[in-house]
Amino acid sequence: MAENKLILPAIAVRGIVPLPNVDFRIEVGREMSVLALEQAERMYGSNIVLLIQKDPNDQDVKVDNIYPIAVLAKIQLKLKMPNGNYKVKFKVTDRVSVDNFESLNPYLVVSYTKLESELTNDEEEIALIRQVIETFSKDGRVYLQAPDEVARLLQQGLTTEETADVMAYYLKTNDKYKYLAELNVAKRLEYLLEDAAKERQIIEIENKINNDVKKSIDDSQKEYYLREKMRAIQNELGDKARQDEEVYELRKKILECKMPKNIEEKALKELERYSNTNNQMAESGIIRSYLDFLIALPWYKTTEDTTDLTAVEKALDKNHYGLTKVKERIVEYLAVKMMTGKNPSTILCFAGPPGVGKTSLAKSIADALGRHFIKQSLGGVRDESEIRGHRRTYVGALPGRILKGMKDAKTINPVFLLDEIDKMTSDYRGDPAAAMLEVLDPEQNANFSDNYLEEPYDLSQVLFITTANSLEDIPGPLRDRMEIIELSSYTEYEKFNIAFKHLLPKEIKNHGLKENELEIKDDAMLKIIQGYTREAGVRELDRLISSICRKTVKDILILHKEKTVITCDNLIDYLGKVRYFNNEGRETSQVGVVTGLAYTQFGGDTLDIEVMTYPGKGGLILTGKLGDVMKESAQAGLSYVKSHAESLGIKNVDFSSIDIHIHVPEGAVPKDGPSAGVTLITALVSALSNRPVPANIGMTGEITLRGSVLPIGGLREKSIAAVRTGLKKIYIPCDNERDLDEVPQEVKEKLQIVPVKNVSELLKQIF
Ligand code: ADP
Repeated sequence: MAENKLILPAIAVRGIVPLPNVDFRIEVGREMSVLALEQAERMYGSNIVLLIQKDPNDQDVKVDNIYPIAVLAKIQLKLKMPNGNYKVKFKVTDRVSVDNFESLNPYLVVSYTKLESELTNDEEEIALIRQVIETFSKDGRVYLQAPDEVARLLQQGLTTEETADVMAYYLKTNDKYKYLAELNVAKRLEYLLEDAAKERQIIEIENKINNDVKKSIDDSQKEYYLREKMRAIQNELGDKARQDEEVYELRKKILECKMPKNIEEKALKELERYSNTNNQMAESGIIRSYLDFLIALPWYKTTEDTTDLTAVEKALDKNHYGLTKVKERIVEYLAVKMMTGKNPSTILCFAGPPGVGKTSLAKSIADALGRHFIKQSLGGVRDESEIRGHRRTYVGALPGRILKGMKDAKTINPVFLLDEIDKMTSDYRGDPAAAMLEVLDPEQNANFSDNYLEEPYDLSQVLFITTANSLEDIPGPLRDRMEIIELSSYTEYEKFNIAFKHLLPKEIKNHGLKENELEIKDDAMLKIIQGYTREAGVRELDRLISSICRKTVKDILILHKEKTVITCDNLIDYLGKVRYFNNEGRETSQVGVVTGLAYTQFGGDTLDIEVMTYPGKGGLILTGKLGDVMKESAQAGLSYVKSHAESLGIKNVDFSSIDIHIHVPEGAVPKDGPSAGVTLITALVSALSNRPVPANIGMTGEITLRGSVLPIGGLREKSIAAVRTGLKKIYIPCDNERDLDEVPQEVKEKLQIVPVKNVSELLKQIF
């Protein structure tokens, strides 16, 4: 062993072990390493010692973290990279032992001794090198990181020592320091064979694990496959065991239902079919839903009716304020029913604007009689099959709304509310009204046919009640079957009472409050009615009271308030700003603007009609949402005015040189009907004769060409609306005088109602 004591700068490498005879490439970043590189290039002919760090994770170079054996190398290539580090290629020449650290700062300097490998070239060594080459050329890919590179190097012709170093350098194992530290080449060759064997073992274990995993996957696939096959076989056989039990249960249920004989037979037949149908098939599901439906439908179960009419009367009174006439008629209707023991030949129809208690009356009737209550809305129904259902041959076929309702009712004699019967329309898919006729006709409805059910169903014990907003929209033949009970708008006074007697106690209870925890002062309630609602019924009012209750609950829970008192002053905190300024009306009288009274399906309303003239060619312009009837009224009105101009006080007007513009502000709902006739004429005369019409008067009435005023409908609604908007006087057709007793007393007290016979009488009074 030659001993040359030498000194060189050094850098410590981490993670990989350089070996002689193989070029070594690393990235150098640590500042002291860079300095060492520079120093080596400048002072030592690019020679440098590469030390091997024991723990690659240690950032700092410590003496005791350096292996005693290192290599001597020559810097061949040094490239500066964008990140400031250097990529360096070293030619590694010798093993060295580190003798001493001469300096640690600012870079490492070590003294070292070159080491020579021990090479014998004896038979043992030759045998080993052969074995190594054989092993590695056979399974190179298994043991080596870059087998192709190794093959290339081997082809160049390497010595035994070089071969050992190259192989060791590219070996997959991590622990390579031993190849550096071992000077005996034969020993290093043995290491190679050992490591190869180890690697092979690892590979074998890995393969075994892979195979095991694969096998377990294969096994589960096999199991899955077999299960699928088993299921298919079971299906073929009808899955007897499971189905037998299901079929038994279904049969039991069918028999318990006490269906009429023919239907029971049909059900059992279907059941038979079901038990023979492969339950994977869609058919099976269809039959099953049909059977379930037959079982769920009530066939004989009834509730016992009360026979005590006074109790019914009391129940209606208890739940509803006012409506005296309505309740009377309901009781009469029920009396007939009780006397005859069957449903009267007509059906009750509650007609009126929303929120006036139609639904809740029907519900009260059910409660009072002790019957179940169900409701189906007919709004938007335009297809006969929605009433009668679809044939079962359709995918997703369903029974119609009537039988669906019956299913929910669970008894054969519920009170069945058909809501919004006026909102049914018909189209090419058939007329639902015709189907409804069958439902409602006591002569026919014992055998109501539904396409889904396929068999007649008995509706004769059902007490049908219908509701409608507007009578005109109910198909004629249906209307003929109905006993119509009209419910009209409530006056403020009625709303006030309903609120205190019904809505408030109901909402207090619904919100889990106690009576003494919430008080709404009288004037505050009135302000809610006048300033926050504008409706015929009391739905919005109900909602507002409910909203006050909600906030009260919050106050109690969060602020620990004991009692909430709602006054006019604090109302704004609960409901926000006032929304409507009723009872103020238009402030000043104006030329060409007149207030008319309208009757819509939402109750009464007022509308201002405006007329203006300007130079033109005798044209008539109509704007606003006017229906055809109203347009014609306008034409007729103008003709009347033209022909009576002189006597109406219209002077010096040349109709051929002016245009007349009539405008009806749209408002929330479209208005149509002939009753705006008088209003149109009055507005025309006012505009043409330049005389204002008082702001606080209103009027309603149809006109003929000759100026007669014809009667109108909805006087009660219109008068209530007039008071609501603050009118003081209204003109009505004298033929409507007989309807005056419909007008609530409190309205009469606030409103002067003047009947007129014809237009000239009306205009005389106004101007
Ligand atoms: P509709 O069916 O006419 O649209 P609802 O029956 O749904 O109206 O009535 C709305 C709410 O108003 C219900 O809570 C109902 O109890 C209440 N209501 C309506 N009229 C009265 C009344 N005369 N007395 C007591 N509560 C009423």
